[in-house]
Amino acid sequence: MSRIAYVNGQYVPHLEAAVHVEDRGYQFADGVYEVITLHGGRMVGEKGHMDRLDHSLGELRIDWPMSRQALSVVIGEVIRRNRVGDGFVYIQVTRGVARRDHPFPENPESSLVVTARRMPPIDKETLRQGVSVITIPDIRWKRHDIKSVSLLPNVLGKQQAREAGAYEAWLVDDDGNVTEGTSSNAWIVTKDGELVTHNASYAILNGITRLSVLEAADEAGIKFSERPFSVDEALEAKEAFITSSTSHLKAVTRIDGQSVGNGHVGELTGRMLDLYVDFIENHGGPRHTGTWN
Ligand code: PMP
Repeated sequence: MSRIAYVNGQYVPHLEAAVHVEDRGYQFADGVYEVITLHGGRMVGEKGHMDRLDHSLGELRIDWPMSRQALSVVIGEVIRRNRVGDGFVYIQVTRGVARRDHPFPENPESSLVVTARRMPPIDKETLRQGVSVITIPDIRWKRHDIKSVSLLPNVLGKQQAREAGAYEAWLVDDDGNVTEGTSSNAWIVTKDGELVTHNASYAILNGITRLSVLEAADEAGIKFSERPFSVDEALEAKEAFITSSTSHLKAVTRIDGQSVGNGHVGELTGRMLDLYVDFIENHGGPRHTGTWN
């Protein structure tokens, strides 16, 4: 079956899907995106993703390409036409096509691209196996709450991780604190057993998976703390993991070549993975999508 993409009003074969060379997304990275997990045929956290898209678009003063309801219909149609049960939907909105010039064009018409891709279903065994992360300086701009398509530092960081044999790079700010991964949120269980992830602020993208995990912890009566943590604290941690729409909740067993705890998936990490999967199956995603910065 051939893949279908939605591009500016049309459903087209994926191989032929294209935007104009003067699309501002292509020329200036003047656009935003969302990635929504599909789990067992259902979108996880659709409302959260749409609220965050609204936040990103609003902060950059890019118009919605169509109403929220219409976008929801297009997304559903792309999923249906590609027959994706487990996988993800990618949504990109840019400030549209205009003669190349830095200021906003006068009457911009936002561009919209929606694609969908199959992925293997959530496999807890694989997620529990544990991956390595490295820490590198966070050289990004200062608005990580906006899900911008301008991902060059993230691309370079992820490549550096791969070349070091690691799965992810954790980004470290000028104060020595881990903000997040290049495409995921970062979590530790401190040596005192405290579950910690960076608070929502300009410093991180407030992940929809992160929000689900926080709500799942809350429901189970597990205490957590939303605050910055340092690389030293992470190196001393008992457990660590990352969260994202495509990695779900993945154990981290090495940081900068050093074992985390005993080097195996931690007890709380394993429990949070179970709670997370139950949570999205029961609730479909976070119910409180609160603040984005
Ligand atoms: N931080 C960054 C920088 C990301 O790119 C992502 C994934 N898009 C996340 C965090 C996790 O967000 P989510 O759980 O919504 O996928």
